[in-house]
Amino acid sequence: LLNVERLSKSFGDHQVLKSIDLTVASGDVTCIVGPSGSGKSTLLRCLNYLEVPTSGAIYLQGEPVGVRWRGDKLLRMSFNELCVQRQKMGMVFQGFHLFPHKTALENIIEAPVIVRGKSKAEATDEAFHLLDKVGLRDRANYYPKQLSGGQQQRVAIARSLAMQPTLMLFDEPTSALDPELVGEVLAVMRQLAEEGMTMVVVTHEMAFARDVADHLVFMDGGIVVEAGDPRDVLTNPQHGRTRTFLARVL
Ligand code: ATP
Ligand code: MG
Repeated sequence: LLNVERLSKSFGDHQVLKSIDLTVASGDVTCIVGPSGSGKSTLLRCLNYLEVPTSGAIYLQGEPVGVRWRGDKLLRMSFNELCVQRQKMGMVFQGFHLFPHKTALENIIEAPVIVRGKSKAEATDEAFHLLDKVGLRDRANYYPKQLSGGQQQRVAIARSLAMQPTLMLFDEPTSALDPELVGEVLAVMRQLAEEGMTMVVVTHEMAFARDVADHLVFMDGGIVVEAGDPRDVLTNPQHGRTRTFLARVL
């Protein structure tokens, strides 16, 4: 579903990603772990072209991301083309980024109505299904500030799902939460995984990675140091850098 080939990204003369290769099959959950500054967020942001890669290529369902062929030239997509492509990739961040002046329900129907041109009635109907899915039907008319962090993050996930993405990207979705609220968000993500959603998840939650991920990627210094079945990587890491990292977080 997703293919990343020799992806590199530099900020000035600081090379943050160094020739990353990554393949994500349809329905797979890939967890990305690694120390702070290793380039995890930059990689995720490159996947949907929030950052423009310095070199390399990304393909989603065989289509190049952010660029397109015109004749024999590869050109950057226009902003509108990029927006259409980005709708295939839902993204959930550490902060929840809900619209503060809109209720949970209004947050969820915003994009389907404005971007997709759905009727408010249809979008609302679908939004209630999504609120059910994340366990928040009874909070539909609450504003973000009236919700806990865990509830806000679950609304953010529902809002992403409302655009029916092909792929969901999560960047440390539980890192900003009080510890007692982490579980409810991970439970929603786990359910999503079981329903077959393709997901790329940057996380420090090693138990989630072990139990839910099909594929674990350990990054350090802008490279993929080690990748494989999470149980293998976690119990029998092959590289010293992986062992050092795991010794600190497990
Ligand atoms: P963390 O676990 O702390 O979130 P990370 O693995 O997500 O770390 P990134 O946020 O991808 O790491 O950052 C990798 C490196 O790239 C860091 O050294 C960071 O300072 C640098 N970097 C990230 N974004 C930019 C930017 N917009 N301009 C310049 N440097 C950047
Ligand atoms: Mg990060």
